[in-house]
Amino acid sequence: MSSRPSAARREDLIELADWLGRERFAARAKDVDVQARFPTENYADLHEHGFLALCIPQRYGGLGADYETYCQVGRRFGRHCGATALTFNMHTCSMMWSGELADALPMTDGQRCLHEERRAEHYRRVVQEGAIFAQPFSEGAGTVTNSAPYGSTVRKVDGGWIMNGRKVFASLSGTANYYGMLCTEERGDGHRPSLRDTQYMAVPADAQGLEIAGDWDPLGMRGTVSRNLLMKDVFVPDAQEMMPAGLYIHAVMGWPHMFFTLAPTYMGIAEAAFDFTVRYLRGEVAGAPPVKRRMYPTKQIAVAQMSIQLEQMQALFLRTIAEARFEPAKSERLRAYAAQYTVMEGCNDICRLAIRTCGGHSMLKSFPLERMYRDSRCGALMLPWTAELCLERIGRGSLYEPGEED
Ligand SMILES: Cc1cc2nc3c(=O)[nH]c(=O)nc-3n(C[C@H](O)[C@H](O)[C@H](O)COP(=O)(O)OP(=O)(O)OC[C@H]3O[C@@H](n4cnc5c(N)ncnc54)[C@H](O)[C@@H]3O)c2cc1C
Repeated sequence: MSSRPSAARREDLIELADWLGRERFAARAKDVDVQARFPTENYADLHEHGFLALCIPQRYGGLGADYETYCQVGRRFGRHCGATALTFNMHTCSMMWSGELADALPMTDGQRCLHEERRAEHYRRVVQEGAIFAQPFSEGAGTVTNSAPYGSTVRKVDGGWIMNGRKVFASLSGTANYYGMLCTEERGDGHRPSLRDTQYMAVPADAQGLEIAGDWDPLGMRGTVSRNLLMKDVFVPDAQEMMPAGLYIHAVMGWPHMFFTLAPTYMGIAEAAFDFTVRYLRGEVAGAPPVKRRMYPTKQIAVAQMSIQLEQMQALFLRTIAEARFEPAKSERLRAYAAQYTVMEGCNDICRLAIRTCGGHSMLKSFPLERMYRDSRCGALMLPWTAELCLERIGRGSLYEPGEED
């Protein structure tokens, strides 16, 4: 089982993350954004400081961080480079889901033993070789909402699986060494596929039949390089399983906070936009017009509104990451949706207010605020917990008990 790091250890990791973000990532963020290129240098730093193995248990050579520590670390990275934080989420969740999360799921002794063997090899690649994992689940067809089986398929053959299909928005495309994909097992015999047939497999980047396709020139989160993946008869060895067959659905049902892991990035962006606003109005931002604006009541009120909204977001964020566990209470599950909605939409609100309050100069590309503004728009679009789907789940979950229908 993953052990919870001590409070002091957690603080050390968070402080180190903040230092890395401030001293290394912040200076590169503009170039990563302008070029829409992957932040490769940041990943060299992450590897050097052990962060690629943040959520790998210590007995495998990782830092042994738990869910909550990851959320705090991701939030710190988000303050300095949204694309680094968001892609770090994809990689780190690949480790956490096969680690802390899988440990809580029901498995037979045989499954657990095999899972242990397989994840040891995934972890070895990360710890020793600096391997990077992506999480391309989306297919652009509603499947990633966990209401229908994935369109991409795997078929059992000797020693492995044959994969076919297509993924969209594959962050880290062209950089990841392994693509952790969700696919539906084809069983034949008239079997009607369901989410229970979902397989979670890490496809090596150099696998034959795997192709990266499509352009990447988006509004925000440009450094994530989230292009499409095409799989044509890709052979994936058995050992590439990230979770035992059929277990993913138990994770979805029992560990809902697994999808809240996208929120720390946006919590960090919101905090950075607020800090920028305060420094700008105090006349402390280098390159900004040499006039203070803090004496105007309009600015003070706008900053107060932003501060109140940020406090609300932080309070809900902290409560939610502390409540993450297997089989949370219904109220905790609904609160996680509310927190996701609040952070994702709130981040965009704070960035919008920041530009309005600081004024026209603040949205020049020489300042990071306009990048934060564009990055902030992406949070509410992330499936399966888009802002609108969170609203739907909160509404339905509040009005209906399990099994009730009209
Ligand atoms: C910067 C960025 C990076 C990303 N990185 C990744 C990644 O690494 N891995 C990954 O898997 N995905 C990634 N995504 C994809 C993301 O999670 C969504 O899948 C994607 O934004 C959906 O695109 P869409 O809105 O065109 O899709 P659509 O599926 O067309 O959805 C459109 C909207 O309709 C609603 N909707 C969709 N399905 C349903 C349904 N069944 N019921 C009710 N409403 C529904 C949703 O609210 C959604 O916003 C990334 C997206 C962005 C913007």
